[in-house]
Amino acid sequence: MWDSEKELNVLKGAIATYGEDAQENMVFEEVGELLQALVKRRRNWAGLAELENLAEEIADVEICLDQLKIMHGIRSLVSEKRLQKIERLASLVKGVRP
Ligand SMILES: [Mg+2]
Repeated sequence: MWDSEKELNVLKGAIATYGEDAQENMVFEEVGELLQALVKRRRNWAGLAELENLAEEIADVEICLDQLKIMHGIRSLVSEKRLQKIERLASLVKGVRP
């Protein structure tokens, strides 16, 4: 069973193994793949393969973003910013109170 501590160790291990430059370069590659998956999904909205591919690419980008946060030492700061942005969004969305 995976927990967030084990996951964090794997991500730190990947950074230590491949290096920060390589892992940061992966962000560009994976974001590109996500954009491509989104375009394919738009072209074939009903396609299960496209849906599966989109989910895979979202997971890849999430992993890259987690590594970015670790490498730049901003995990807490990103959480703070995210909360602020969600709260702001809640104030803009009708019928939702923060
Ligand atoms: Mg990918």
